[in-house]
Amino acid sequence: MQNQLNTIASEITRCTKCPLHKSRKNAVPGEGNPNAKIMLIGEAPGYWEDVKGKPFVGAAGKFLDTLLAEAGVSRAQVFIGNILKCRPPNNREPAPSEIQKCTPFLDRQIAAIKPKLIITLGSHSTAYILAKAGIQFKGITETRGKLYKTNVLGLEVNVFPTFHPAAALYNAKYKQTLIEDFKLLKTKILQLKIN
Ligand code: URA
Repeated sequence: MQNQLNTIASEITRCTKCPLHKSRKNAVPGEGNPNAKIMLIGEAPGYWEDVKGKPFVGAAGKFLDTLLAEAGVSRAQVFIGNILKCRPPNNREPAPSEIQKCTPFLDRQIAAIKPKLIITLGSHSTAYILAKAGIQFKGITETRGKLYKTNVLGLEVNVFPTFHPAAALYNAKYKQTLIEDFKLLKTKILQLKIN
């Protein structure tokens, strides 16, 4: 498992398939437990992730740590990845062509880890994973806070969409919803016996 993830990570750090490689300081392949039962998928690296080559190490990452604590889960237990592995300039939204070129890496990470639960953070990762599961995405507000029993890439996996933690930094109303979602996740994780 770790070998497969290392191979994928080294391909990511050398990738030149889209123009984002030209402006990156570091690619951010994702990191965490290779045997994780829980995988979190964000959108794309921001400023600090690009500097450090690690996912969720900036302000959104600090809040993510708080949220994980609400769910009774530690970073060491999970694998954290992103839809895009390189930072879009000025943190702009991922372009469809970038998503198309980059997500084969994410698919391979999912196939290697075989998680039981995927927590999608924000609309890009939610739309991507639900599409793989053949579920129509009707917007993050409609979709979030529920567990979807799905088949993704041939794997039986529960998908739990929620807002992106960065949303709480811009608008306080998302903060409480995120905390409630991760509290609910704690119950679901216990029910699924994946802690
Ligand atoms: N936001 C993301 O979506 N991913 C990161 O790694 C950091 C911030």
